[in-house]
Parts: sequence; C-alpha cells; structure tokens
Amino acid sequence: MNMPFTEDQRPIYHVDTPQMLSKMVARWRESGEKIAFVPTMGALHAGHMSLIARAKQTADKVVVSIYVNPTQFAPHEDFDSYPRDVRGDLAQLQRAGADLAYTPDEAAMYPDGRESAVKAGSAAAGLETDFRPHFFDGVVNVVYRLFQQVRPDAAIFGEKDFQQLQVIREMVAAQDLSIEIIGAEIARDEHGLALSSRNAYLSAEELEIARMLNQILYKAAFDIKEGIAPEAAEKEAEQSLLTCGFDKVDYVSYKGEWNRVLVAAWLGKTRLIDNCGV
Ligand code: AMP
Repeated sequence: MNMPFTEDQRPIYHVDTPQMLSKMVARWRESGEKIAFVPTMGALHAGHMSLIARAKQTADKVVVSIYVNPTQFAPHEDFDSYPRDVRGDLAQLQRAGADLAYTPDEAAMYPDGRESAVKAGSAAAGLETDFRPHFFDGVVNVVYRLFQQVRPDAAIFGEKDFQQLQVIREMVAAQDLSIEIIGAEIARDEHGLALSSRNAYLSAEELEIARMLNQILYKAAFDIKEGIAPEAAEKEAEQSLLTCGFDKVDYVSYKGEWNRVLVAAWLGKTRLIDNCGV
C-alpha cells in the first residue's frame, strides 16, 4: 500500500563525500530547483532549525552540513569536547524538512591539507579576532570549501554570529561568488538567552547568570540610542556582567559601522556571545 509520509517520516538524504554530494545537488539543479545551504557544526538546536525554516522559504531544496571544523579552533579551545550528536541531529533535520545532510570528515574537507588561499577580510578586524585570532581565517577556509562543494544559490547564516556574517558577505564579494547570503534573526530561549550549542556546557547556576547577558546588552543598546556615549554604556555593561557573575568579559563593544552592540563573556569554561542592534 502506498502510504503518504508524515512530516516525521519524510526521508532525508545523508551523504559524507563531496562526490555523493555533488551528484545529488547536480540532479536537483538540472531539474531547475533552487538550492539553499545551511552550514553548521552540529549539536543542533532551535536556532539552527530557524535557519532551515528560512532556507525553505527561499529555495526548493535545503542542504545542511554538519562539520566541527578544526581550523577555527585554537589548540587550547574546545574542539575535542565540542558537543557531537549526529544521530540526534539527523532526526531533527528530518523533522525540520531539510533535504540533504552532509557530514564530511577531515579527508573530505581538507584533502590536500589545511592551508587556505582564501583569508578573512577587513570585517574580521577587532572584536572576535582580538581574542580568537585564528577564528575567522578558519571559518572562511571551511565555508569557501563547502561553497565549492555544495555550489548553492543561497546560504543562510545566523545574526547570532554577527561579525561572522559580515566576514562571509565580504568573502563572497571578494571571491565574486554568485551566492546570496541571507542573515537570520537570533533565536532565543524564553528568557532571551541566545541559543547556542555551547549552552550545553552551562550548569544550572551558570544558566541563571547567562540569562542576564541579553538584558545587559539590551540596556547598553537602549542607552546608546538615548544618547549616552558608547564608551560609558560599554563600561557600565561590562561592570554589570561582572557584578551578576560573569567571570571575564572579552568585549562589550558598540560598532558604529553596524550600529550594533556586540558582547563576548565567559562563565567558567564557557564563552558566550550575543549582539543587539541600536
Ligand atoms: P554553529 O553550529 O554554532 O556553527 O552555527 C551554525 C549556524 O547557525 C551559524 O550561521 C550560526 O550563526 C547559526 N546560529 C547558531 N545559533 C543561533 C541562534 N541562536 N539564532 C540564529 N542562528 C544561530
């Protein structure tokens, strides 16, 4: 009997080599379908699902990659302990209606080594780079490679990583790629905490503190909008973060060019980032 699939049973293709990926995507492209791509590092949550929903609005087929990219981690960072749950991820992707999951390994991503001809541009200056100097070159390295492999019409990135989104836009323009880059709003929990795979590291006590981050950020953005000098608002926000229990603040910074306040702060071993338009 021919039973219709429910959304839960809707099949998702899963490939792990660039050859299989190209074959699938080429077939769709030849039949005139538009392809949207969502790169991720897995440990998927509702933030990732909102990117997939956005991708489905813009394209006929949605490709999602899951790859914890070693080149964007420094040796002392959390590459080894980064949460990994491919089975759970695939189930979520299927429910969200993604069409193809791509889970390459290092040999598939870096067949000739980790060197990259493509580097991050001027959007990478400052903020994250002051604290994670390797980070954006690593991101650009892997995203450029993924773009070459998937060859999507559009790619979706979260505004959660706002500086990253600007770095990707700049890379796409510099490399003259015809890929539309779409920024998706930050998905938050019911307390306003930006969803992140790294939130899984937080203890119950740390989670309570983490939920103050967005409120302090919003206040800084509001104060700047009301005419308070950005330096004063930044300083006050930094002080508030430390007072409410954050262990270290990498930056709270108003970036005039983007009219936005961006923050990175540590709770124990966990580094959280967030940002808000003014
Ligand atoms: P990641 O798996 O953390 O590398 O993130 C993959 C993509 O999901 C990136 O484009 C992120 O900006 C995006 N993303 C992660 N968390 C969120 C969130 N809370 N809201 C919106 N996008 C997000």
